[in-house]
Amino acid sequence: MRGQKSEEDILLEKESFYAEQGINVLLGKRASSLNAKDKIATTEDGLEIGFEKALLATGGRPKRLPIPGAELDGVHYLRTIENSQAIAKEGVPGRRGVIVGGGFIGMEIAASLTQLGAEVTVIEMAPYIWSRFLDETTAKYFQSYYQDKGISFFTNESVQQLHGQGVVASVETKSGKRIECDFVCVGVGIDLNDELAKEAGLEVGNGVLVNEGMQTSHPDIYAAGDIANYYDPIFGKRRRVEHWGHAEYTGQLAAENMAGAGKTYDLLTYVFSDIFDLRLEFAGDETEYEKILIRGTFEENSFVVLYMKDGKLTAYLSVNTSPREFIPMQRLIRRKIDLSSNLNNLTDKSFDLRKLLQQG
Ligand SMILES: Cc1cc2nc3c(=O)[nH]c(=O)nc-3n(C[C@H](O)[C@H](O)[C@H](O)COP(=O)(O)OP(=O)(O)OC[C@H]3O[C@@H](n4cnc5c(N)ncnc54)[C@H](O)[C@@H]3O)c2cc1C
Repeated sequence: MRGQKSEEDILLEKESFYAEQGINVLLGKRASSLNAKDKIATTEDGLEIGFEKALLATGGRPKRLPIPGAELDGVHYLRTIENSQAIAKEGVPGRRGVIVGGGFIGMEIAASLTQLGAEVTVIEMAPYIWSRFLDETTAKYFQSYYQDKGISFFTNESVQQLHGQGVVASVETKSGKRIECDFVCVGVGIDLNDELAKEAGLEVGNGVLVNEGMQTSHPDIYAAGDIANYYDPIFGKRRRVEHWGHAEYTGQLAAENMAGAGKTYDLLTYVFSDIFDLRLEFAGDETEYEKILIRGTFEENSFVVLYMKDGKLTAYLSVNTSPREFIPMQRLIRRKIDLSSNLNNLTDKSFDLRKLLQQG
């Protein structure tokens, strides 16, 4: 979006790779039905493809705003490169953008547009941004950091209607505020592309249900990536994860198992993000925690958020800290070491975390 990389730079593989590997890629074709009984996938234009094993990796699409004015020009969503290019064009000094949704994607867009020179306002319905995985104190640190970079926030606020003559010109909030703008970007989550799975009669519930080997309720159909609701043996529960690393890992795992490998999921999920000059690296399951500890200080813009449950580390979010500590923290999570008597050491940046591993 900021023009630092060309379209070619971000391709997973060059087009020639697929032919070299004997992979037949059909672009511009939508699979419109999946017959699990006869094992046939059909494309929208009527091509029937028989299979022995199939993988569903259909991901999701941005949730649309269900409000009047949402169809106006200048209202953007972000999933594809075309979406990204359209948003980048709005990033011009003097243009005013409203970002609906202060999640990861909303904040990444806000930061990129601010860096491109646009004036950005974020509307978030929770009391503070990233409320799904941060407590109020930590979230407020990030929010004030972003405010210092020029981003304005309306929290505890949602969007009621978009106004404009053909092109969006203002946003009306639930509490009656009117924010003048030249464009709007919406980042309020995704709807899963799970229609094929449902039609095929697979078990679906917050994603396509798969086991530890990515196999769906049909033994010859697998699912991976955003769409897969999988059993995570590290945390002993079902999860659905919308992260790049997990998508890549589960795609590979499913492929190996489709070829008969019989492997099980063993990834400590992670995600990273660069927002202004904050390098964020997340690992683990941040959705269940009782307590948050901070290793380091907000003042230095370098610290780790530690997520604790039952005295154990379940996840961490590193902000500009040394990757040297990532492996020990990942091991503390995986080994479920009881750290109840070491909370002071955890928050002491000078304490070597590797010492805690010797206990487990
Ligand atoms: C703006 C943005 C920023 C992100 N940033 C990060 C980040 O910093 N770090 C991170 O870890 N993750 C990030 N993510 C999440 C990450 O991109 C996703 O988790 C990942 O792409 C999921 O991969 P997937 O293969 O499951 O789905 P997708 O990448 O969505 O791929 C699904 C593909 O299936 C195709 N498809 C769907 N239905 C059909 C059909 N019926 N027939 C044929 N084809 C079909 C779609 O066109 C698409 O190409 C970001 C996502 C977005 C949108």
